[in-house]
Formats: sequence, structure tokens, C-alpha cells
Amino acid sequence: MLRWMLLRAAGDERLARWAAASPTVRPVVDRYIAGDTLGAGLKAARGLADAGMAVTLDHVGEYITDASQADEAAQVYREVLSQVAAEDLPAGISVKPTQLGLLLERDRCEKLVADLAQRAADAAVHVTLDMEDHPVTEATVALVEQAHAAGATNVGCAIQAALHRTPDDVRRLTRLGASIRLCKGAYAEPVHVAWQRRVEVDRAYLEAARHLLREADYPRFATHDHRLVAAIKREAAHLGRPRDSYEFQMLFGVRADMQRALVADGYRLCVYVPFGTEWFPYFTRRLAERPANLAFFLRALTSGDQR
Ligand SMILES: Cc1cc2nc3c(=O)[nH]c(=O)nc-3n(C[C@H](O)[C@H](O)[C@H](O)COP(=O)(O)OP(=O)(O)OC[C@H]3O[C@@H](n4cnc5c(N)ncnc54)[C@H](O)[C@@H]3O)c2cc1C
Repeated sequence: MLRWMLLRAAGDERLARWAAASPTVRPVVDRYIAGDTLGAGLKAARGLADAGMAVTLDHVGEYITDASQADEAAQVYREVLSQVAAEDLPAGISVKPTQLGLLLERDRCEKLVADLAQRAADAAVHVTLDMEDHPVTEATVALVEQAHAAGATNVGCAIQAALHRTPDDVRRLTRLGASIRLCKGAYAEPVHVAWQRRVEVDRAYLEAARHLLREADYPRFATHDHRLVAAIKREAAHLGRPRDSYEFQMLFGVRADMQRALVADGYRLCVYVPFGTEWFPYFTRRLAERPANLAFFLRALTSGDQR
């Protein structure tokens, strides 16, 4: 229930302004967000690269309300790509389709994805389209298909185990040769489209992971769930897959201990590094993933720390 309330708060402008000004909230934001600027994102990326990790850089922002914001977001990603190429960082980019105006001007969004995909390919960079809530799932998968049809094979997307449609999407994208990032799913979704219980989501995740390990060239497993990580390692070893033929992905600020341990054991690890000022929706999803965070948020809201 609390999780649902928090996820619903993700789009609340008033709460976003309060959180941005709250001294109680800021330290927790700093745990999850590398900083407000591209410079801060790149600094975090360099540190992680020194520790043997790859990164995928996310310029936070989503569900833009003015189409010109799509061009601004794309421009930041162009700068990311040129910096990544200049510094030869082991980095990809993660982009939310609604940040590129998917729901405002679909044509423009498609052109921006195509442009970023081309620039990323020139820099040997992988592009992952983040998966947002279910009204845009089909359109996001279609963007990947369009990119591949145009020759941009460096574009893939996240797929959420929680959704009932996921087994079909996994087959569809794997047949295409598109790289999938498998995650549990961070959104509050209705019962007719998504599994609601943890145990059901975990079971669906494992089934999709097994399919990817059998069929996909380079699957990306985004989870901090140590039982799933262990099961994926076991299954990959059972199938004789080399450790460099797939990767684990984790979020900046989450389970750094497990991140280091995986790298020390010779597994590939990619850290999702968000930066930028529009962090509130991303941040609320992170809070919602951890019950202790929920308590913190409610305490801050009711403590008089409101401006
Ligand atoms: C690289 C990456 C990319 C992602 N991209 C997307 C996407 O495009 N679309 C989407 O819907 N979702 C995305 N997610 C989020 C994902 O769907 C889950 O909501 C999130 O990863 C939590 O699930 P879990 O698999 O870690 O398992 P959980 O069972 O939720 O967590 C396992 C353990 O990890 C730790 N943990 C997990 N989350 C947190 C947190 N926020 N703070 C502190 N500790 C935590 C806790 O110790 C917890 O017990 C992404 C996740 C990752 C790692």
C-alpha cells in the first residue's frame, strides 16, 4: 500500500519541489543520483571504471510536457556520447522514450532515437531504452524494432519480468537479436497487466532469465536480488556460458558490496548511473523498492521539514 502511494507520488510536482528543497531528503538523493551535472555522472563513471565496472549513463527525466524538452534531452545525450568517446569510457547510455517525447510527437521521438543510435554506434556504445509503465511498453519495443530495421543493432531495451506480456516480448526481441536488460519492474501496474506478488515476479524473472541464457547473445540481468544472481550464475555455468557472454547490472548506490564481489569473481558488472536535476520520479521509485526508505520518506514529510 505504502509502495503504491509512493509510486503514485512520482509525478507530483509539488512533492518534487518539496523534496528538492528538503535538507533531510538531499543526503538520500545523493546516495542514488551521481549529481546534477554531466560532469558528476562522468566522475562517477570514471571511479566505477577504475574498479573494473562498466556503466550506463542516464540523464534523468521522463514524461516531458513540451516537445522542445525532447531536443534538450537528446542534446545532453549527444554530449554524453562525445565525452564517453573522448575518454574511452566503458559506458553505454540509458534513455527513457517519454523523455524523447514518445507520447507527444512520436515522429520526433523516432528521429531522435535514430540519431542517438547512429552516434552511439560510431562511438561503439550500446543504447538501452529504459522500460517505463505499461501504456508505453508496446511503443518502446516497437522503437527497438525500428532501430534494428534501420541497421542500428546497438539498440536494446529493458523488459520487466512483472508484466504478463514479457515471455512474448523476450522471444520477439531475442529473435531480432536485440539485447535485453531484464529487470523486475519498478512501476505500480494493475493486476490485469502484471504479477503483483513478489514470488510471482521472481518466478517470472527466473523463467525469462533461463530463456535469455539459452537463446540470447548477450543478456543483461538487472537485479540486486542475491537469490536471482546466484540462480543465473548456476544456470549459466550449467549451460557452459562464459562469464563474459552476459552481464549483471545494478543501480548506482545499491548493493555496492555485491557489485565489488561480482567483479572480484570475474563477472561482468554494469552500473546504472543517473545524473541530472529531474531526479524526483527516479528517486521515488528507489524509495519504493525498500521498506526502510518508505519510513524515512514519511518521517521527513511529517517532521516539519516542509517549505
Ligand atoms: C541496472 C538497472 C536498470 C533498471 N532499469 C529499469 C527499467 O528500465 N524499468 C523498470 O521498470 N525498472 C528498472 N529497474 C528497476 C527494477 O525493475 C527493480 O525495481 C529494482 O532493481 C529492484 O528489484 P531487484 O531485482 O533489485 O530485487 P529486490 O527484491 O527489489 O531487491 C533485492 C535487494 O536489493 C536491495 N535493493 C533493491 N532496491 C533497492 C533500493 N532502491 N535501495 C536500497 N536497496 C535496494 C535490497 O537489499 C533488496 O533486498 C532497473 C534496475 C537496475 C538494477
